[in-house]
Amino acid sequence: MGFFSRIKEGLKKTRTGIMGRMDGLFARNMFDDQFYEELEEILISADIGVETTLELVENLRQKVKETKAKEGDQVVTLLKELILDIIGTEIYGLAEVEEKPAVILVLGVNGVGKTTTIGKLAARYQREKKKVILAAGDTFRAAACEQLEIWADRAGCEMIKHQGGADPSAVLFDAISAAKARGVDAVLCDTAGRLHNKTNLMNELKKVHRVVEKAMPGAPHEVLLVLDATTGQNALAQAKVFNEAAPLTGVVLTKLDGTAKGGIVIAVARALKVPVKFIGVGEKSDDLQPFDPREYVDGLFTQD
Ligand code: GDP
Repeated sequence: MGFFSRIKEGLKKTRTGIMGRMDGLFARNMFDDQFYEELEEILISADIGVETTLELVENLRQKVKETKAKEGDQVVTLLKELILDIIGTEIYGLAEVEEKPAVILVLGVNGVGKTTTIGKLAARYQREKKKVILAAGDTFRAAACEQLEIWADRAGCEMIKHQGGADPSAVLFDAISAAKARGVDAVLCDTAGRLHNKTNLMNELKKVHRVVEKAMPGAPHEVLLVLDATTGQNALAQAKVFNEAAPLTGVVLTKLDGTAKGGIVIAVARALKVPVKFIGVGEKSDDLQPFDPREYVDGLFTQD
């Protein structure tokens, strides 16, 4: 399956469930108050968020007036452009580093798809013929370590782990040291995903940063937060807490294939000012895609 068809497939529920209702709306070619009210309702139910929706709809009203657009197709194009104004058009990759390894911290609460994302990223590196080491930094859950090991075997890469309950920072330190010694390209670091209170979260992340920096000055090069798109506005709330606790460099939105509320991407991009770097559209190793805003917006509106 090509890249666009995969995104399209991943957004199918959003498109048919909610965005699908837009077709009828635009096809009426009547851009009156009722049109804008219905549009507002549809966008809010796709989890774009109230504030973002109001801003989008207001801007669309103005654009339609300015351009004197009369046809549904023209107005859809205007709406797509306004969405791109919010989320940007750039496709972000992972940080390039001058000195190996790139240290990538992966954060997120339990269940969002953190382990799976690390596994998919490992598979990506392997496909590019790059060497990676996984660091089993979620030492509080034996299951997390086991899952990660399965992904490591699948990708044919090494995983560094300690005993259950060990200090997560110590695992990361060892993994980075091993990576330096072996000329590995990247270290993908799992972290504890317990739902913490903010003070604990901040303290833990501070410690992780301190130890990682000690193992390799300038690290971490990426701090990725994994969010589950199916949890909608709750994902947004988590993102705000993590972003205050640790400066994030990117967001990964998982399970977009499992929700009709794919508009959360727009809400997250607008609220955080942190780029959405990858989206998860399935459980297989190649179901992690670099986030391409244009493809995403096309995927939202394209007909089957
Ligand atoms: P963690 O607790 O954050 O490490 O979460 P896991 O990586 O164990 O994932 C939790 C569940 O979500 C697993 O059943 C994964 O297969 C599933 N999952 C993760 N990413 C995706 C995705 O993009 N799409 C779908 N449909 N499922 C996903």
